[in-house]
Amino acid sequence: RPRVLSGIQPTADSFHMGNYLGAIRQWVALQETHDAFYCVVDLHAITAGHDPAVLRARTRASAAQLLALGLDPERCTLFVQSQVPEHPMLAWVLSCITGFGEASRMVQFKDKSAKQGADRASVGLFTYPILQAADILLYQADAVPVGEDQRQHLELTRDLAGRFNTQFGKTFTLPAPFIVRDTAKITDLQEPTAKMSKSSSSPAGIIELLDDPAKSAKKIRSAVTDTGREVLYDPANKPGVSNLLTMYSVLAGKSIDELVMAYEGRGYGDLKKELGEVVAEFVKPIQERTRAYLDDPAQLDKLLAMGADKARTVASATLATAYERVGFFPSR
Ligand code: ATP
Ligand code: MG
Repeated sequence: RPRVLSGIQPTADSFHMGNYLGAIRQWVALQETHDAFYCVVDLHAITAGHDPAVLRARTRASAAQLLALGLDPERCTLFVQSQVPEHPMLAWVLSCITGFGEASRMVQFKDKSAKQGADRASVGLFTYPILQAADILLYQADAVPVGEDQRQHLELTRDLAGRFNTQFGKTFTLPAPFIVRDTAKITDLQEPTAKMSKSSSSPAGIIELLDDPAKSAKKIRSAVTDTGREVLYDPANKPGVSNLLTMYSVLAGKSIDELVMAYEGRGYGDLKKELGEVVAEFVKPIQERTRAYLDDPAQLDKLLAMGADKARTVASATLATAYERVGFFPSR
């Protein structure tokens, strides 16, 4: 079976619709066909400032949401990144074959550090993509299901894997991005050309999976759309409406064409109202299941510890090979 690995940051109390449609939905499907590793990347989540108690709660809530959305510990390996110390251990080596200029070209760092002010941005935010490369390469992943925003980081990962292999002997599989075009960039409701984001969207711009469905319906009703009236799928000229159609289409299992036909002669108001209902139907059972997992944290933690054990078996074997190739002293 081919391998996949992907991760998500516990940087908010709830995941949003972009996380689900762009990434997690694929994770659920890929468990059936791939040897799948998925992690809550708490090491990545401390790169832009955090509160310890909040981080721990969000890490659990993230795992609970992933299970509620359909990850099955019998079918995949679900774990918390910090419980597998091989990740930062490989990241150090990779950071030593990454060019400073190469890392400086990462758009996510440029965006996030610009928001924080260049002097306040941490070195961890800068080396974030190198740790991400380690996450992926430790598992010899063939494919990495992510949203469009992660494409550049995956290119860096491939470059680093290739460079390491050339310099020290074939060690790592070169991973391919697995990006589903239609849902690769779900946009902010208030800013329909920017990606919906846990940490940078305004509350009105994101549909949170754990939010009260009435609140989400209201946000959808206030979503920015153009001044036209016709419901058409045209991402270049009607990004707001097209984003609503994309979400509707996947959540309701209807094609965009079908939806455009159904809304012919009706305005944006109807589309927004009905998408609010579709979202409510989708999130209600997920919220219930998330709550159930969080009601039994001991069981949840046990499940994650088992995932970490499974992950470590694979990660430690890869790390041992990589350390040996680099020329480190044999481990004792
Ligand atoms: P943050 O703002 O803290 O970076 P985020 O919303 O970008 O949070 P991540 O945890 O960084 O979420 O990313 C988790 C996964 O969700 C990644 O695969 C990422 O590509 C995907 N993703 C995030 N936002 C979107 C989006 N708007 N559309 C599609 N995929 C997305
Ligand atoms: Mg992100």
